[in-house]
Amino acid sequence: MSELLYLRDAYLREFDAEVVEVDDQRVRLDRTAFYPTGGGQPHDTGTLDGVEVVEVRKEGDAVWHTLEGAVPAVGDTVTGVVDWERRHALMRTHTALHILCGVIWNEWRTAVTGGNMTPLAARMDFEFDPLPEGFGARVEELVNAEIAEDRPIQVQFLPRDTAVMDEDLIRTKVNMIPEVVKEIRVIDIVGLDKQADGGTHVASTGEVGAIRVTKTESKGKANKRIRLEVVDG
Ligand SMILES: [Zn+2]
Repeated sequence: MSELLYLRDAYLREFDAEVVEVDDQRVRLDRTAFYPTGGGQPHDTGTLDGVEVVEVRKEGDAVWHTLEGAVPAVGDTVTGVVDWERRHALMRTHTALHILCGVIWNEWRTAVTGGNMTPLAARMDFEFDPLPEGFGARVEELVNAEIAEDRPIQVQFLPRDTAVMDEDLIRTKVNMIPEVVKEIRVIDIVGLDKQADGGTHVASTGEVGAIRVTKTESKGKANKRIRLEVVDG
């Protein structure tokens, strides 16, 4: 099992760790700040002792780093450096999606059905039928207003029994998390949106910068897609 350093400190860019397993070009560490692909957020890149990390994948409790170059040996201590430009762009983008969920719920009481992101661009699907008039422009205005508020974003670890009683978390389907998970990580954009989430986010909404809605489209009855990009504020 690898200690996931990014869960408690999304701003950690450099760390030391011990190699606990090697599988061809892949390395497992006792701890890592590299985010593995999951929850709609793509993996980090960077280096391990100067060697490129090109993929990071979670398999069960193990995080595997795929290297392009010399692979260290089991027992070695290595220094990991996360590509901060890419990671910070993903933190801004991921946070923008939570703001989007919050404003759409507040304004239209509509739940999200899916989504995906790349650095500084994302899409999200919602249960609209039809899409409200002037939807894209209104969403952009509401999201950018929440960014201007510069709301603090808190990371909390709640006992499962507490989390499943929280109305905001029930709305974002906390009950879908497997029963074996006893502690639930919650991302709270104070006063706007609260979700159980394993991703990385910025510390306040102002750090997102600004968003632009680039497209809205229909993906079928009761499923409408919104695309956005994250830009400097
Ligand atoms: Zn999230």
